[in-house]
Amino acid sequence: MRLVLLGPPGAGKGTQAAILSEKLGIPHISTGDLFRANIGEGTPLGVEAQQYLDAGKLVPTDVTARMVKARLKEDDARDGFLLDGFPRTVEQAEILEDFMKEFGTELNGVVNFQVSEDVVVERMLARGRADDNEETIRTRLQVYRDETAPLIDHYGDEIIAIKAEGTVEEINARTLEALGK
Ligand code: ADP
Repeated sequence: MRLVLLGPPGAGKGTQAAILSEKLGIPHISTGDLFRANIGEGTPLGVEAQQYLDAGKLVPTDVTARMVKARLKEDDARDGFLLDGFPRTVEQAEILEDFMKEFGTELNGVVNFQVSEDVVVERMLARGRADDNEETIRTRLQVYRDETAPLIDHYGDEIIAIKAEGTVEEINARTLEALGK
């Protein structure tokens, strides 16, 4: 299956993706993880991305899209993937659409993890990642509202909505059921 995972920052996409990846036998491709790995290794891409992650802003789309395309071309992603963190804008969704056409394939669905803003702030503060301070969280939520939430309308019928409040196990069970697995 080729799935896009959507949801606000702190929705628990990464946690759910790790479990789904194992159960469905397809790789979890997280743009945030890819950026953090590049930052950790000090690659040119990491050096460029770091200022954006630190500020909670989006890394420029050309940089992000190039990274995603290279990752999607790897062997393990040929028969399926869980794409977490891309697209984050309608422009990126159109680029992903172009990639799928170029690869001669298409998405099977877009899973949208729905969760209230109070819960996401609570989860992010509890997780304590380097970019999880109050100011950055506020910026990321604003970026989500302005740039990412419009993807829900953009994808329309392709959206598979999941209520993402509850325990990790409950949310995983709901997701598998919604996917017919
Ligand atoms: P969260 O889901 O908590 O926002 P992520 O790990 O998905 O965290 O993303 C962390 C940061 O990585 C974002 O705040 C942004 O700076 C950058 N990033 C991730 N995906 C994208 C993307 N598709 N386009 C631009 N920047 C991105």
